[in-house]
Amino acid sequence: MLSPSQFIEKHRPAGGRRSSKRDFIVDVFLRQSGHLGADELVTLIRNEDARISRATIYRTLQWMVDAGIARRVDFGDGKYRFEHSYRHPRHFHLICRSCQQSFEFLSSDIEMLLEEVANARRFTPSESVLQIYGKCEQCQTGLPDTTPRVPLELVFARDALRVAIATERSGLAFYQRAARLARDPRGRRVFERLAAEEREHLSTLEARYRELTEAEPQLEAQPAFLFFKSASNGLFAAGVEELSAPGVADREALRIGIRCERASYRFFKQYGERFEESEGKRIFLEFADEEREHFELLVREFRALVARQRSRKVKPRRTTSTPEKATTVRRASRPRAGTTRAGAAAGGSRKRA
Ligand SMILES: [Zn+2]
Ligand SMILES: [Zn+2]
Repeated sequence: MLSPSQFIEKHRPAGGRRSSKRDFIVDVFLRQSGHLGADELVTLIRNEDARISRATIYRTLQWMVDAGIARRVDFGDGKYRFEHSYRHPRHFHLICRSCQQSFEFLSSDIEMLLEEVANARRFTPSESVLQIYGKCEQCQTGLPDTTPRVPLELVFARDALRVAIATERSGLAFYQRAARLARDPRGRRVFERLAAEEREHLSTLEARYRELTEAEPQLEAQPAFLFFKSASNGLFAAGVEELSAPGVADREALRIGIRCERASYRFFKQYGERFEESEGKRIFLEFADEEREHFELLVREFRALVARQRSRKVKPRRTTSTPEKATTVRRASRPRAGTTRAGAAAGGSRKRA
């Protein structure tokens, strides 16, 4: 993972000069969490080094915004605040009007909807801001929040693991069901193998989750940051539903599995790439890789199954036909114009029988 200085190097504009004062300011800024006003940063910096002028700090803040190291947030109270993007993905805010505290969250469902709207209106978005104003739980109840805050980076990693675990669980349910449905023995073995793999991934993810929460005992009590409802519940759950439809056999089950894995792969890859460098990003990208492997395996199996079923239809009495021979026979029956491929194969076998 990138260190703060590597992070700065990555974001330094081409030809951008190094300056020790600026590097110092950036370094102090990256050590802060939450949302910081420009004046608060001035105080922090000048406490450490009184020779750095206010103007230099303001200029550096603007430089960080331009370089993508800092994000400027406007909570509508006439004061800009800044937050850094180091190991800190972009997000939306809940803002309490009473205590002025802000709380961060991210939702893939909302982001997808925003993209859908922009696409429908042929609009190219560069930034989406979503802010919910109101009264926080503490201000409503009068009870102090006694849970110590932990860095958002850890909450993000925890939630990324939760999303991956939920997806893995519904993937497991999907393959177990598909294995029960499959008539083709090889197809069944593929589903059983995938179910076993999902089970193994699941235990790895759960071990990682335990490790993370044991290292930071306050982590479990933190409010949710990621709201990825349709992603973690929807991708394979819809597939399980489809498997229950009448007449679904191995071939159709493979096709549904391919669709689920492809959607899952694309989702985790897309989000992983959009996140800032962080443990959560890594969890998403590693999970995307696993989903891609499953997707590729299912595609290979689907092709093999289609070839087996074709050769079975063409040569009903031979069980050991090679794919080359099957192709030759199929080609021979092709000239029957006006028939579908299945019809041609069925007609061909009738003639020979
Ligand atoms: Zn409040
Ligand atoms: Zn924020």
